[in-house]
Amino acid sequence: MITEAVKAQIRNIVGPNNAIDSTIECFGYSYDSSFVPMAKENIPELVVLPSSVQEVAQVMAIANANRIPVTPRGSASGRTGGSIPAAAGISLALNRMNRIVELDERNMMITVEAGVRTIDIYQACAQKGLFFPPDPASWKYSTIGGNVGENAGGMRAVKYGVTSNYVMGLEVVLADGTVINTGGKAMKNVTGYNLTQLITGSEGTLGIITKVLLRLIPMPKTRNTMQLMFGSLANACHTIHQMLMSGLVPAAAELMDKISLQAVARHRKLDISPGIEACVVLEIDGETKADLQQQAERIADIARRLEVIEVRIAASDEEVEEIWAIRRGLSSAIGAMAPNRFGEDISVPRDAFPRAVDLIRAIGEKYQLTIAVYGHAGDGNIHPSVLCDLSKPGEEKRVQQAVDEIFAAALSVGGTLSGEHGIGLTKRAYLVNALGEAGVQTLKAIKQALDAQGILNPGKIWQ
Ligand SMILES: Cc1cc2nc3c(=O)[nH]c(=O)nc-3n(C[C@H](O)[C@H](O)[C@H](O)COP(=O)(O)OP(=O)(O)OC[C@H]3O[C@@H](n4cnc5c(N)ncnc54)[C@H](O)[C@@H]3O)c2cc1C
Repeated sequence: MITEAVKAQIRNIVGPNNAIDSTIECFGYSYDSSFVPMAKENIPELVVLPSSVQEVAQVMAIANANRIPVTPRGSASGRTGGSIPAAAGISLALNRMNRIVELDERNMMITVEAGVRTIDIYQACAQKGLFFPPDPASWKYSTIGGNVGENAGGMRAVKYGVTSNYVMGLEVVLADGTVINTGGKAMKNVTGYNLTQLITGSEGTLGIITKVLLRLIPMPKTRNTMQLMFGSLANACHTIHQMLMSGLVPAAAELMDKISLQAVARHRKLDISPGIEACVVLEIDGETKADLQQQAERIADIARRLEVIEVRIAASDEEVEEIWAIRRGLSSAIGAMAPNRFGEDISVPRDAFPRAVDLIRAIGEKYQLTIAVYGHAGDGNIHPSVLCDLSKPGEEKRVQQAVDEIFAAALSVGGTLSGEHGIGLTKRAYLVNALGEAGVQTLKAIKQALDAQGILNPGKIWQ
C-alpha cells in the first residue's frame, strides 16, 4: 500500500495533478496492447506523470526507500504486457517528457526525451534530410522510451536494423534514483561495459530511460513500393529469400498469407482474387530513379521464376500510401476476425523462414485452429496470430498447446521467442527453453546488481 504521506511527498515533486490515485483513472493504466486479460491486481495505486529527469530521480528515491513497485510506461502499445503494473504500485508514465532536446546535424544525431513519439523523431529528422529508420507499425503513437525498452523493430529492419542499432547513449534513472549517462556522441566507444545496449531491450526492469541519443543516417534520395501476389505461400517466401541471396536488399520485405489478406479485404472492402495465397510488399530505395527501376526489374524477374501472379509497382505517392496502409492496418484487421486472438512474435534465421511457416501451418491443422501468418519476412520475424473463440469448450487448452508448439518450432529451427515485442508477462514461461537455466540466472544476477529490491517492473521477463 502506498501511504497518504508518500503520495503527498510525490505530489510535492510532480505537482498535485500529476500524481493520480482515483480508481477510474488508474484503471486506464492497468492494461496495454497485449492479450493479457484485465485484472484488478494490475491496477496501479498511483499514476505518476513526471516532467523532468530530476522529478523521475526523486520519485524513484522515494519508491526505493518505501519498496514501492514502479512500472515505466510509454504509450502502452506493447504486445507482451510490459507496461502492465503486475504488482500494482506506481505506473510511471513518461508521456509529458516529450521534448526534442537537440538535432545535431554536424554529427548526425538527435537527443530526445523518452516520451517523444517515434513518428515525431522521423519527421524532425526528415526535414533536415536525415533518416531515423526504425519504424514499428505503431510509430504514430509509440514512444522512443518504449521503443528502446523493447528494442523495437519495424518494417525497415531488413536493411537498416532495429532500434538498438541507432541508440548511441542514454540518460537513465536507476532504481534508487541515481542518474547515469551511458555512451555518447563518439562513434567508437569501448569504455567499460556497454550499458547502453544492456538497458536497450531491458523492458523497464533495469532503469527508467529519460533521454535517448540516436544516430541518424542520410535520407535515401528515392524510394518506391512493390506489391507481389503469389498463388503459393512457399513461392512468396522463396522469392524473398532468393532476392536477399542475390544481393538485393530492400528496405522492407513484408509477407501476408491468405488469411491475413482475407482479413484486410474484409476490413477495407477490397477484392482479392481467389487464387491468391500470399502477398509480399517491398520498399526499395536508392540514389536514383534508374537505380530503383533496375532493382524493381531484378525483383520482378526472381518473382516470375517463382510463378508470381501479379507485380504492382506503385506509380504515385497515393498508391504507396494505399499499399502500406494495408500492412499497417493488418494487425487490427486480423483482430476483428475472431472473438479472441493471440498474436505472437517469433524470429528465425532468414533461411529457416519457409520451414518455420510450414511448421506453423501444420500446428494450425493439428489443433484445428486458424492461424494467420504475416510478418517482417526479410529479417525472419514472423507474427503468427491464433484466431479463436475462448468461449468454446476445450478451445483455450488447444490454443495454449498450439502457442507452446509455435515457440518450440521457432527454437527448433534455430530461432528465438521474440524478434521485437519482448518477453513481458506473456512469454515468461518459455524463457528457460530459449536461454537455459544458466542464461536465466545470469539475467537475474544483472537485475540483482542494478535493482536489489526488485522494484523496477517486477514480474516481467521471468516468473
Ligand atoms: C498495431 C501495433 C503494431 C505494432 N507494430 C510493431 C512493429 O512493427 N515493431 C515492433 O517492434 N513493435 C510493434 N508493436 C509493439 C509496440 O508498439 C512497441 O513495442 C513499442 O516500442 C512500444 O512503445 P510504447 O511507447 O507503447 O511502450 P509501452 O508499451 O508503454 O512499454 C513497452 C515496454 O517498455 C518499457 N518502457 C516504456 N517506457 C520506458 C522508459 N522510459 N524507460 C524504461 N522502460 C520503458 C515498459 O515498462 C514496457 O516494458 C506494435 C504494437 C501495435 C499495437
